[in-house]
Amino acid sequence: MKPPPFEYHAPDTVAEAVRRLGEGGKVLAGGQSLIPLLNMRLTAPRALVDVTGIEELRAVEVSSDTVRVGAAVRHRDLERHREAGEANPLLPQALGYVAHEVIRNRGTVVGSLAHADPAGELTAVLALCDGVVELARAGDGGEVVTRRVSASDFFLGPLEADIAPGELVTHAEFAALPATTGSAFVERARRHGDYALCGIAATVDAPDGEVAAARIATISVHPTPLVLDVGDAAAGRSLEPATAPEAWSAAGERVAAACEPEADLHAPAEYRRHLASVLTARALAQASAHARDRVPAAA
Ligand SMILES: Cc1cc2nc3c(=O)[nH]c(=O)nc-3n(C[C@H](O)[C@H](O)[C@H](O)COP(=O)(O)OP(=O)(O)OC[C@H]3O[C@@H](n4cnc5c(N)ncnc54)[C@H](O)[C@@H]3O)c2cc1C
Repeated sequence: MKPPPFEYHAPDTVAEAVRRLGEGGKVLAGGQSLIPLLNMRLTAPRALVDVTGIEELRAVEVSSDTVRVGAAVRHRDLERHREAGEANPLLPQALGYVAHEVIRNRGTVVGSLAHADPAGELTAVLALCDGVVELARAGDGGEVVTRRVSASDFFLGPLEADIAPGELVTHAEFAALPATTGSAFVERARRHGDYALCGIAATVDAPDGEVAAARIATISVHPTPLVLDVGDAAAGRSLEPATAPEAWSAAGERVAAACEPEADLHAPAEYRRHLASVLTARALAQASAHARDRVPAAA
């Protein structure tokens, strides 16, 4: 099918983009989710405001604390960004699971956060890494007004984020992971590149070679990314390869009990819940191994 008619704007600046959005319209980023919705006539915005040509939104800025990603940055750009991956290894670990390469070549990191699909890998990464998004809108005098929203407040429900009409998400910020923290992303999909039936992002913090904290975030088994601290059972254990398999299994059971998966044509809810348990244990074991590899480098 063809999309309904729309005006197309390609502003050069954030100020012009938010002015256009203030007149009514929708942000067009990579188009990998929006264009199918238009083609299926599930949405019919009066205008599309293409933000991918805005130079000030193309940067990935890496500091000791954060990886800050502009709204025009494609998945692939971040996946290949060496400094970003060193500052936060969970980013490349998760990005490799986002759809297929051709989709990652066009889809944007911020677009997938704004889309707020509970199956989107980056929603879990932002939530687990205490992320923040920055939004801009046109003020009454035409000035650009910005606000910042933490990941825990940004995701409101399936395909629903805290973005008001006329607002543009300009940046997403992911906290850098300390050198003593290991991370992992695991998921199960029916076919490579499909949305996951369940996915788990995990971090294990082990400053002295012993587990001090562990956290996970889910995709595809809860309306929004579910973030849980699950380190208690393993606290104080060493990072040796056999560390705490029973503690990680217990963590998996906690996650399975806390999540609220829904059945669909791909899998029953109970299967997704089972995956949440198994994949949590697996992700935590992988994150421990990753922490073990990183700790000598940190020492
Ligand atoms: C076959 C297929 C498989 C896929 N599999 C996966 C997968 O496994 N995991 C995954 O995470 N994604 C998957 N996707 C989605 C893909 O990652 C999209 O790129 C992503 O969801 C949206 O990013 P985009 O840049 O294409 O946004 P667009 O499609 O351009 O926009 C999506 C929505 O977000 C809004 N939006 C975009 N950017 C902004 C902004 N800066 N501010 C405010 N609103 C904004 C748009 O208005 C629109 O409503 C898949 C897509 C396809 C087609």
